[in-house]
Amino acid sequence: MPSRQQMLQELKLAPRWVRKQHSSGAAALSGVAASSGAEPETGAVKGVRVTPVQHGADAARLEHIAGLSLAELAADVADCTACRLCRSRKLAVPGVGDPEADWLFVGEAPGAEEDARGEPFVGQAGRLLDNMLRALGLSRERQVYIANVLKCRPPNNRTPEPAEALACQPYLSRQIELIAPRIIVALGKSAATLLLGEESSIASLRGRVHRYRDVPLVVTYHPAYLLRSLPDKAKAWEDLLLAKRVVAGG
Ligand code: SF4
Repeated sequence: MPSRQQMLQELKLAPRWVRKQHSSGAAALSGVAASSGAEPETGAVKGVRVTPVQHGADAARLEHIAGLSLAELAADVADCTACRLCRSRKLAVPGVGDPEADWLFVGEAPGAEEDARGEPFVGQAGRLLDNMLRALGLSRERQVYIANVLKCRPPNNRTPEPAEALACQPYLSRQIELIAPRIIVALGKSAATLLLGEESSIASLRGRVHRYRDVPLVVTYHPAYLLRSLPDKAKAWEDLLLAKRVVAGG
């Protein structure tokens, strides 16, 4: 068993430091809250008005997404025009990984490199995430799926707006339903807020097991933040060990 220090070094974090049952249906589509003011079990978002006509269109869209496979979902996302981010994206970024993964990592939204390549968590933050996965004995091809709350890049990497998060919510919800992970790791405050429906600091949310519906969920720092904040990398490793214990059933 490697020591904590060895593990941190493996992660390049040491002080430099740096199966499944597939349920169906639209019921799972309401599970992702979309802002600090959202109601997680209804999918309603403060500040977003839904007209009856819009509601009808939304219902048909939700039903459509509820029937998608992961491959179909990726194609659907690529053609999606449900929010204005479709106008500024280069490539949509549906997600990547093992369709039967035990681990689901969820970030906020694609950045510039992800937007250019159509894959989540590439670039420097992605390499840090890959190092973390390797230290856990995982990789993005095996037992891991990586996705974002938003599938398209917000201009200038701004914070997602509630209407955008609401529009994109059904895709992540369907991904969670299809993958049926043993653990969700929310990377950063936005993902945690959107998944848990409560706005709190990472410091107050990390270190314990939450639930997204019936799936255990652990909150930790976003890799992009960890690149700037050396002391919090050790805390992120502790969070991943907590998640590992959950997956192991401990
Ligand atoms: Fe569609 Fe989501 Fe992209 Fe908006 S962010 S266009 S809802 S895929």
